[in-house]
Amino acid sequence: MPELPEVEIVARALHNAVSGRKICSAKLLRPRLAPGSTPDEFARSLVNGRINSVGRRGKNILFDIDNGRTLLAHLRMSGRFMLLPPESDDPKFTHAVFHLDDDSRLVFQDQRHFGLMKVIDSSRLSEDIALAGLAPEPFSPEFSLGYLLRTLSRSNRSLKEFLLDQTKVCGLGNIYAAEAMFLAGISPRRRARNVPQRRIEPLVDSIRAVLSAALAEAETKTSDPVLIGEGIYGDGVRSDWLVYEREGLPCSKCRAPIRRIRQSGRSTYFCSKCQR
Ligand SMILES: [Zn+2]
Repeated sequence: MPELPEVEIVARALHNAVSGRKICSAKLLRPRLAPGSTPDEFARSLVNGRINSVGRRGKNILFDIDNGRTLLAHLRMSGRFMLLPPESDDPKFTHAVFHLDDDSRLVFQDQRHFGLMKVIDSSRLSEDIALAGLAPEPFSPEFSLGYLLRTLSRSNRSLKEFLLDQTKVCGLGNIYAAEAMFLAGISPRRRARNVPQRRIEPLVDSIRAVLSAALAEAETKTSDPVLIGEGIYGDGVRSDWLVYEREGLPCSKCRAPIRRIRQSGRSTYFCSKCQR
């Protein structure tokens, strides 16, 4: 599943590719992609709207349309956008097609059928269920030492589970959570409320550092104008993780073997010597 840095790159690529374009038609080929509306309603709410900009909140991609609406898209496991010229056919697993006023068309393709879209009144965007409960963005000023101190102190769960909770920390997935805990030297098994106060600032810095590094790396990849964000899906951007998927390999700091445990049904990788 794409994590926050990958979704950010897709949103930026979409912004560059389609902002300013008018939507001439919007076809929902798989109605369950947008379960909140019929294909007709979906089309009517978008057609003749011009795309002002494309942004992101959490892992939701937001197309701001000049008719007062916002198209929200979530890639989930395998959703992807493609900008296709008129002469090419729709690829397999095409679930939505948007014809644009320059004769190109934006296609949403999703092999695993978990992607989601909906059209929301832009004035009520912050109240929408997909966005209302989201924690502050990791790079926003709201995601501060004080914020994390308060929120950690109220949680009885393990730090790993805490970091994956999108209502506490926004946009941190399994990979980056493991990497950030390693950089901050905190055990994933430690209860959130027991994280020592002096470790919280390093944790904020580590979360930002792993996300920045992933964004910087993703930015260097040449973006294919047809396959938007292609090449950055799957197991995240980097292949040289510090702990992620390194079970049994030596820790880069102390050479002890990296361990893997299960937490809430998902693997956590960590060094039991460096992370306390
Ligand atoms: Zn170590």
